[in-house]
Amino acid sequence: MSQPIGGNTLRNGCLAICTSCNASTALRTCLPAAMSSFKPALVIVDVQEDFCPPNGSLAVQGGRDIVPLLNELLDRPFAIKVATKDFHPQDHVSFASNHDAPNNKPFESMITIANPLNPSETQETRLWPDHCIQGTKGAELLPELDVTKVHEIVEKGQDTRVEMYSAFADPFKRPCVSRSGLAKLLHDAEITDVFVAGLAADYCVRYTALDAAKEGFKTRVIGEATRAVDPSSMDAVLKEYDEAGVTVVEKDDGSLSW
Ligand SMILES: [Zn+2]
Repeated sequence: MSQPIGGNTLRNGCLAICTSCNASTALRTCLPAAMSSFKPALVIVDVQEDFCPPNGSLAVQGGRDIVPLLNELLDRPFAIKVATKDFHPQDHVSFASNHDAPNNKPFESMITIANPLNPSETQETRLWPDHCIQGTKGAELLPELDVTKVHEIVEKGQDTRVEMYSAFADPFKRPCVSRSGLAKLLHDAEITDVFVAGLAADYCVRYTALDAAKEGFKTRVIGEATRAVDPSSMDAVLKEYDEAGVTVVEKDDGSLSW
């Protein structure tokens, strides 16, 4: 029996029709568990030399320490296991070295990028040291990560004109400039649930998880399998997750028991 709740309709306990927002999104995110099969994917974000001590140009504190847990996760029966790589050309827009003084301080300076396909859409973004340049040691996945258990490696950030924290796409919407193919890969495999881990918790993991939720996947971030550039920013990130329906789970809290 249906009962109206605000602008929505509850049917058998499931939000089946949303009259106040995008219907396809509502339907996808509201499918009851009993009606959809559970097919989980693991997405390991940017576990690369440049994001890790001891030599990374943009090393995240403790970044290397998550690898044993990532390898444990890779032993689990995820339907698809993906590792992503930040993979920039030398002239990438996010590198402070490609901008003029004085607003070119890595970690500090913010710049405005216009959508190359629509200059009226702009984005404020931070500048970084050169990192994960294609063909360099810094762009390589950590050798201790067991990539033999990874099904797909997805590269991102190749378009020199746009920043791309998310492993799905750049942040521009009108239109999007660069897609990695990750969304298609997961949809084609009929993935229902996406588990995200890797680096860094407050940048590429964050935007990958938020985009996974936007794509309609039930999304969880495995908290202890991430590390942040700025741990003090995580309260704000958790609020975003809450609003987007992304859950932070831990390895032993039962979320990975199936
Ligand atoms: Zn990058």
